[in-house]
Amino acid sequence: MAETLEAISERVVKCTLCDLSNGRKNAVPGEGMANAKLMIIGEAPGKYEDILGKPFVGMSGKFLNKYLELAGIDRSSTFITNSVKCRPPNNRKPVIEEISACRSYLISQISLIKPKLLLCLGTSACNSMEIRYQHLSEVRGRPMHLKFYGLEIECFVTFHPSFPMRFPKARETFLADLKEAKKIVGM
Ligand code: SF4
Repeated sequence: MAETLEAISERVVKCTLCDLSNGRKNAVPGEGMANAKLMIIGEAPGKYEDILGKPFVGMSGKFLNKYLELAGIDRSSTFITNSVKCRPPNNRKPVIEEISACRSYLISQISLIKPKLLLCLGTSACNSMEIRYQHLSEVRGRPMHLKFYGLEIECFVTFHPSFPMRFPKARETFLADLKEAKKIVGM
């Protein structure tokens, strides 16, 4: 019988596969629809995500919610998670070893949800999906077909919301990317 999202989450909250387990208050497996057409992958839980055990509930989350809404995407119809499920110390970027250790949970979630599109937010999400590039602009804003650990999946890369949050000039592009992702999914 196929594993459920709840069963994956139960494995995540007990996980000690990498050192990020040492500093977490709560692991953040992800949340959303089990049959979501759009699955969103961010970077890592921050302070508020760690406290609440939920993804994208801090400043970046509020910014993402606003732009999803502007793009006409209902967040509650998506599944949203991160490249690592536990908060890195001082909100540093997760390192490749941590992303690799956490990848099996992501693969399990993707296998179960079978989204029409994976929306990768920023470099850590790309590292999770093993999308290689010198600069994000090489892969940002265009659909790509990936073969990934036995899965075939459509991906679309855009900025992590913390980037357009800090750099207003990137907001128009971020919104255009979200609208394009919506169009691809047919939401
Ligand atoms: S970040 Fe992922 S691999 Fe590391 S302890 Fe948390 S759940 Fe396990």
